[in-house]
Amino acid sequence: MSSLLIKNGIIIDPSQSIEAKRDLLIQDGRIASIEEMIDAREIEVFDANGLIVAPGYIDLHTHLREPGFEYKETIETGARAAVAGGFTSICCMPNTNPVNDNSSVTSFIIEQGKLARLAKVYPVGAITHGLRSERLAEIGEMKNAGIVAISDDGKAVCDSGLMRRAMEYSCDFDLPVVDHCEDCTISPDWAMHEGEYSALLGLKGLSGTAEDLHVSRDIQLAEITGARIHIAHISTAKSVEFVRQAKKRGLPVSCEVTPHHFTLTDEEVYKRKFDTNTKMAPPLRAKADVEAVIDGLRDGTIDAIATDHAPHHANEKMLEFDHAPNGIIGLETAVSLTLDRLVHRDLISLSQMVRLLSWHPAQIFKLAGGTLKIGSRADITIIDPNRKIRVDASQFQSKSRNTPFDGWELKGASVATIVDGDILWRAF
Ligand SMILES: [Zn+2]
Ligand SMILES: [Zn+2]
Repeated sequence: MSSLLIKNGIIIDPSQSIEAKRDLLIQDGRIASIEEMIDAREIEVFDANGLIVAPGYIDLHTHLREPGFEYKETIETGARAAVAGGFTSICCMPNTNPVNDNSSVTSFIIEQGKLARLAKVYPVGAITHGLRSERLAEIGEMKNAGIVAISDDGKAVCDSGLMRRAMEYSCDFDLPVVDHCEDCTISPDWAMHEGEYSALLGLKGLSGTAEDLHVSRDIQLAEITGARIHIAHISTAKSVEFVRQAKKRGLPVSCEVTPHHFTLTDEEVYKRKFDTNTKMAPPLRAKADVEAVIDGLRDGTIDAIATDHAPHHANEKMLEFDHAPNGIIGLETAVSLTLDRLVHRDLISLSQMVRLLSWHPAQIFKLAGGTLKIGSRADITIIDPNRKIRVDASQFQSKSRNTPFDGWELKGASVATIVDGDILWRAF
């Protein structure tokens, strides 16, 4: 019987309201006991003195590029970047080639994820065939094969009638609908957020209204269909307010924010003189939006922090700003940014952080995990909130390097990642 004893750590498990110094024993891949003192005779010990021990972090929004774009990221390299960044599970978006709009692609992703034996990989299926917003994908078939949500992420479903039908279907299959909210008609060829900096730089801007229109639309569609919807990468003040009001009305609406949207503003595009690592969808927003997003994190309107990890090859990101693809990677910086930018600034507590990165994501997609209850799979993230790091993209496990945070000095980092009882990553 394989055993591992994690000694002297501070256990934070919101699912059981535990926040205390405890020993935690893992046996055969599962949580066996949590006690004030567990005897360590003849058991492998991990000394977690001064460290936080929490249920494994779950990323609801990752882009792995396999099948089709393996030069950017494979399922294996993405799952390795995940464990290196403190994530024990990742949910991957369907915009691969072929698109994950049928059960054979779903099964392929699940199989590759299992072969990698790193972070657990949960596929998100497409809402529409080929992400073309014309007809619905094989949602039931994909559900049977193992998808955990549906989304056309990367693109919005601009046909409201089709979105309504997708939501009706999602109820039959008990799947959340993940919405990339962007009205496609407002500003089809935008390059950044529409505001003073887009005017200064002469770049075509995307108004926050494009997001707000879809968030409002999808909340209303959720209301008439009863569907569970999850707003991806929320980024504007108004959208946060729409979600806050929807929750007050008891609607099954949740949302996530990325670390870059609570850390950076559109001024970054200006300061960095067209650095394409400041280009993503939704774009970096104005200061007032970033402040509203942080308020949403503080008061619980925002349920989860998700990376929107979007690997691109250096050559692609070297294109002119207008033509470069959207997206940055995030799996290996998310935890440190959350600790440095939110926890150490007293904006959220460590316990809120664990809710945002583990307990809530598990509930939103109904995944096993997010808890250290006795008998549950031993997926555990151990962090050192005081460890100082310097982000070094050249050392990333991801195949790609497109991050705006290279060289940043941050306080706090994940130091060990345990999946099914095995230590798959440790920083020292
Ligand atoms: Zn998106
Ligand atoms: Zn995305």
